Amino acid sequence: MILFDQIIFGPIHSRRLGLSLGVNLLPIDAKICSFNCIYCECGFNTTMREFPFPTRKQVYEILKTKLQQMAAAGEIPDVITFAGNGEPTLHPEFEGIIDDTIDLRNRFCPSAKVSVLSNSTRIHKPHIFSALKKVDNNILKFDSAIDRTMKLIDQPVGKHINVAWLVEQLKRFKGKMIIQTMFLRGEYQGEKFDNTTEEEVDAWLKALAEIRPQQVMIYSIDRDTPVRDLQKVTVEELDMIATKAIEKGFNVSVAK
Ligand code: SF4
Repeated sequence: MILFDQIIFGPIHSRRLGLSLGVNLLPIDAKICSFNCIYCECGFNTTMREFPFPTRKQVYEILKTKLQQMAAAGEIPDVITFAGNGEPTLHPEFEGIIDDTIDLRNRFCPSAKVSVLSNSTRIHKPHIFSALKKVDNNILKFDSAIDRTMKLIDQPVGKHINVAWLVEQLKRFKGKMIIQTMFLRGEYQGEKFDNTTEEEVDAWLKALAEIRPQQVMIYSIDRDTPVRDLQKVTVEELDMIATKAIEKGFNVSVAK
């Protein structure tokens, strides 16, 4: 598994996002998340000891320096993406860091979008909700509309997380969000699962009809996963799921 060993990483060229500068708000030597997804590219959560988060000031200074350098080199990022070693909204100063980032973006690269990849588990908190409403791309995870599958795939740490709760919380953005869904099948701890079945996709489409996202991004496994018995879903299958969602009126993109 790969951990990001810096606060700022990249920029990397991505066909989908263009030139993307990454921000990792999690500790650089641990993975910390409010989910413990069995497919997570960063591996399972690190336990045992406490790890320091970078401070708001550190993030500000390092991002400012990087954006200044990029602007001077004529290399303007298309997107500044919050991702990294876990769930970015776990950072205690998340909203302040988003405010700083928007301020720096406006100064050094006004055309760049600010994106956050979050797992949706903390959007009930007023400061997280407010911060995510300010960003250009509020990308929120929703892997299955069936509790058993969601809990098996995502392994939520908090007891309050279930599908009905997630749908209610996601609805509060009134469409200003992008839903991201990982499709996969396999077995974990003796339990088989497959979130591409007709029953799963029907339930997912019904949930999307309630959530009403501005966009839906679907994808499958791309790198090593902490659990071995997982299968990647083919692009053809993803396209078939996308077609069903497009027929229901959603704007869907398939990561290939
Ligand atoms: S939500 Fe993202 S970071 Fe957290 S465990 Fe799942 S894939 Fe990993």
